[in-house]
Amino acid sequence: MLIDLHTHTTASDGTDSPHLLIDKAISRRIDVLALTDHDTVGGWEEATAALKEHPSGSNMELVLGSEVSCQDEDGTSIHMLGLLFDPKYTPLIEEFEKTREHRVTRMSRIIARLNEAGIDITIDEVYAQKQGDATLGRPHLADALVAKGHVASRDEAFNIFLHNGSKYYINHYSPSPELAIQLIKEAGGVAVIAHPLASRSGRTIKSETLLKLINAGLDGIEVDHRDHSEQERSELLRLAIEHDLVVTGSSDYHGTGKLNQLAEFTTNPQHWERLEAKANARRVVKR
Ligand code: AMP
Ligand code: ZN
Ligand code: FE
Ligand code: FE
Repeated sequence: MLIDLHTHTTASDGTDSPHLLIDKAISRRIDVLALTDHDTVGGWEEATAALKEHPSGSNMELVLGSEVSCQDEDGTSIHMLGLLFDPKYTPLIEEFEKTREHRVTRMSRIIARLNEAGIDITIDEVYAQKQGDATLGRPHLADALVAKGHVASRDEAFNIFLHNGSKYYINHYSPSPELAIQLIKEAGGVAVIAHPLASRSGRTIKSETLLKLINAGLDGIEVDHRDHSEQERSELLRLAIEHDLVVTGSSDYHGTGKLNQLAEFTTNPQHWERLEAKANARRVVKR
């Protein structure tokens, strides 16, 4: 069984459309795939239609979700995967809209800083890198910097200009992780913390914070992810076992935007079953 519970499309900062993602996941013989674009449910309809209309009659199961940008009191950025929630629950959708609006002002401010430093780039050039209503993010700015010849790749853009410690970096409004967990669960879904100890990418959550989120109702921990070292994985696994949390593994696929390949890490079927049973309704999409 191949179960991949974290992927992105052009509805946020991935490079494959939702339709193409479904086609690729079916070709790759994935059994359960979650669509988790940043702060949006924008890709859900297209992905659902692509699965329902797929000519192969595939049995793949589609898990609709979102990767919710959160920020802790100390400013740490935290990503919360919300899966299987009801998209008609407006308090959650309104929170997405608030974050998405602030991402736009924040982008203008980052661009202003780059311009001050003599790097020629405009907001229109950034917008040209994203599809319609996609959640705007630094990867679109990275793509614009590539298109303009300032850097060779998204990765180089992050390493030189866009990483969290950069002098050009500005954050945007995000809910607290506790609020995200609360809203995801009120919407009937399940909350899994994404890549909590990704020290490789400079994102490490303190253990007190993790304990606080477990008390706030966290359902699972993404343990198997390429940004975690072996040691980080065993540490998280121990914590998950101690607190009886679901353990997930996933690719965090972004198309050509990152090296991550579909199903490069996967979730154990028994853990997936446990996670799905925690949602308040059966919302998995099948053909
Ligand atoms: P933002 O949501 O605007 O703060 O941008 C963060 C997103 O950028 C993350 O969710 C990743 O998808 C992406 N990202 C971070 N580092 C890199 C990198 N080195 N190369 C490509 N994408 C990255
Ligand atoms: Zn992303
Ligand atoms: Fe993330
Ligand atoms: Fe992600």
